[in-house]
Amino acid sequence: MKALVLEEYKRFVYKEVPDPQPGPGEVMVQVKACGICGSDIHGMDGSTGRRIPPSIMGHEASGVIHASGPGVTGWQAGDRVTFDSTISCGQCYFCRQGFINLCDNRRVMGVSCTEYRQDGAFAEYVILPQHILYRLPESLPFEEAAMVEPLSVAFHAVNRVPLSINDSAVVVGTGMVGLLVIQALRLAGCGRVIAVDVDQDRLNLACRLGADVGLRSDLLDIPAEVAHLTSGRGADVGFEVVGISQTVKTALASLRKGGSLGLVGNLSASVDFPLQFAVTRQITLFSSCASAGEYPACLDMLARKSVDVHPLINGVAPLSEGNAWFQRLYQREPGLMKVILTP
Ligand SMILES: [Zn+2]
Ligand SMILES: [Zn+2]
Repeated sequence: MKALVLEEYKRFVYKEVPDPQPGPGEVMVQVKACGICGSDIHGMDGSTGRRIPPSIMGHEASGVIHASGPGVTGWQAGDRVTFDSTISCGQCYFCRQGFINLCDNRRVMGVSCTEYRQDGAFAEYVILPQHILYRLPESLPFEEAAMVEPLSVAFHAVNRVPLSINDSAVVVGTGMVGLLVIQALRLAGCGRVIAVDVDQDRLNLACRLGADVGLRSDLLDIPAEVAHLTSGRGADVGFEVVGISQTVKTALASLRKGGSLGLVGNLSASVDFPLQFAVTRQITLFSSCASAGEYPACLDMLARKSVDVHPLINGVAPLSEGNAWFQRLYQREPGLMKVILTP
């Protein structure tokens, strides 16, 4: 089969590789669409240690079942599917509690690190254990289905933080996941939703997708502006979707006393944390990792068009052109958010 292989850091080659074979309990899926994730971009230069070459990335995908290994039940050739980006073992303490995102034996599709190598979906075919598959609603196109993974991350984050109807929310960072968090907050019944970023185009998009107001953190005193918009108190809940010291501080400082902060972004390994500010204002933190059971709801909402992922998809291109698109994303070309490759 053909695959897009990271041959060395920062260089992908579209080339012939051996066809993978499904083992017991596994299916072979013909990939129809696979999104390039921010983690793939960060990983391609070696800085994260999670994409050691040679590596086939790709964990945001959809396709059609091509063949099944022994012992696969309930799935047939031709079924349209997507899959969890995380392979959970189903056996460990955390899996049995339903925390499949915290599995002790967790592997992520398309990740090659020192502990394991798991080929992803930037290829004609990908092998998947049957227990991570989800059937696609009939009307849902493959490109949109490939967006279910980042959407599930946003839904999981919003599900983590206790919300009351009409709560005000501040979302710091309006990249892909931030924009999906904003849509999820709308669906969850939030009142005023305030988006914060340095990029005016993204703020405009945030307002189109459900934010009431977009605030430029490079131009404004964000906590003061948020207080002004929330009866002088600060927002009831906040979401930090960047993961650096400055944005964590901004998100914290924009909350009311007793407010809650969802931590989603994790660009930095560690940040300066204003401990006394958080403690004396009794702020509650809810960190959020990947997703755990949100796929069916996300697929349903995509199919019913409760969530709009179209404005987030900037390009759909053949997998053979993958290297050029990775380079453009790596160079941070303005306005590029999500590119979907089709084998
Ligand atoms: Zn991803
Ligand atoms: Zn497990």
